[in-house]
Amino acid sequence: MSEVENSEVAVENDQKDYVEDGKNKLNVKCKFCGSKILDKKSAKYITLEKDLPLMQQDNNRKEGEIQNEQIKEFYHVENMYTFENIGFTHTVANCKYLSCADCDAGPVGFYDMDTKHSYVALSRIEHA
Ligand SMILES: [Zn+2]
Repeated sequence: MSEVENSEVAVENDQKDYVEDGKNKLNVKCKFCGSKILDKKSAKYITLEKDLPLMQQDNNRKEGEIQNEQIKEFYHVENMYTFENIGFTHTVANCKYLSCADCDAGPVGFYDMDTKHSYVALSRIEHA
């Protein structure tokens, strides 16, 4: 292993405290209201590069502009019924954005309308 690659791996290992056998070790909850989104061990941990709109858009942004950030870690949910609670916000192309069913915070991930699979961003939820 080279020094350069080590820094990347270290970050990944940190996140993997939440992962056991490739699945979420802990319950997945909304960061804002604590509503349960996924039961423990119900979703698969994957890495995927995907842009999601920021949960809080800057008020000073240009009109009509959407601020995105790239998310690299997700929980992959193949069946919508796996969710304890989930809502939808808006649809863009073949994606529906996922939000908290209780407080509407989001997007916390996205639903791919082609595959019918859902992806929850690790950085947008809380483990409990
Ligand atoms: Zn919530």
